[in-house]
Amino acid sequence: MVTSFLRCDHLKFIMKVPLLDLKLQYKTIKEEILKVTQDIFESQYFILGPHVETLEKDIASYCGTKHAVGVSSGSDALIISLMAAGIGDGDFVLTTPYTFFATAGSICRVGAKPIFADIDAKTCNIDPESIRRVIDTLSAREKAGLKGIIPVHLYGQSADMSPVLDAAKAYNLVVIEDAAQAIGAEYEKKRAGSMGDFGCFSFFPSKNLGAFGDGGMVTTDSDEFDHNLKILRNHGAEPKYYHKIAGGNFRLDALQAAIVSVKLKHLDSWTKGRRKNALKYRELIIAAGIGELVILPEERETRHIYNQFVISLTEKRNELRLFLQESGIGTEIYYPVPLHLQECFRDLGYKKGDFPASEYAAEHTLALPVYSELSDDQMEYVVDKISAFYM
Ligand SMILES: *Cc1c(COP(=O)(O)O)cnc(C)c1O
Repeated sequence: MVTSFLRCDHLKFIMKVPLLDLKLQYKTIKEEILKVTQDIFESQYFILGPHVETLEKDIASYCGTKHAVGVSSGSDALIISLMAAGIGDGDFVLTTPYTFFATAGSICRVGAKPIFADIDAKTCNIDPESIRRVIDTLSAREKAGLKGIIPVHLYGQSADMSPVLDAAKAYNLVVIEDAAQAIGAEYEKKRAGSMGDFGCFSFFPSKNLGAFGDGGMVTTDSDEFDHNLKILRNHGAEPKYYHKIAGGNFRLDALQAAIVSVKLKHLDSWTKGRRKNALKYRELIIAAGIGELVILPEERETRHIYNQFVISLTEKRNELRLFLQESGIGTEIYYPVPLHLQECFRDLGYKKGDFPASEYAAEHTLALPVYSELSDDQMEYVVDKISAFYM
């Protein structure tokens, strides 16, 4: 014991701080999960059914909406919402270029075209000023075809929804909130997913409320949209084997729903842990005197749920990332290529320089580990290493 301790003292000390460690979370809920999955195995009832219905009811109530519809993933939540709103061929949908690919990918998948507006550099969420500017410069054809807007609540903080909703009202746009990273986030006391016509959630394992596989949910207050969503997720059948519309298989399965239901009971305590860790990082970074190099994320809303804690480095982001990796610290770049510069969107006609805030973020941001089980020691180690790199 003593010799190994001494050896450590001589070698470079490396503490492991992964970007996310779901095994720690699993340990705390293992018994509950094994029980409920066992029950489902015994019942051999796997597709939709009572576990999905229970989760739908609970998510609707958690988000403050009338309905919630379980679907196969967050990406499918976006696709099926666009379909339920009747958006498709020849239509245009406004969104941000600084988001996970699925936000804009879903628009293409239904045959519509994305139109981008830049982000606010301080929050990395869509900038209402840019929305106004972009709409003003649309051609008559684009203006007539503009049917929807997808604001993204990036990293777990709500977009500035009030001006987004105003613009949507002025141009008669369907609002689809991409809340994949933001379950439980709030904006002016309203929960993410309850402000637009649709709220899209993902249960991808790395989201704050993750399944043991893929899964997603759409929230809505509209009875009509709820009805459309439920039919569309089952091939558009109404009744069975009679199709007025071509939907798809967008169903959520019982196992994932039951697992997510177990986790939902713990979500607020995990969110509390993430918020506490974000605060701790702020204190440590300021105390380390590196505040000029490490720009902290702006917390504009009262309930940022920190799916990611993302800093912006004024210089040497990539070198820092490598140094942290060598020190046993996991980080990630969300996202290295803004969507207007993706090869598959070349036909949209955008070029480098079109969205400077998004392009800057792609080159300067870095996500640090922030999961709720992280220890103070681990966070101190992360900030020590960042300051060692810059000193
Ligand atoms: C994760 C994510 C999605 C897609 O969710 P999946 O469940 O992985 O399909 C969509 N939008 C954003 C912003 C996301 O972070």
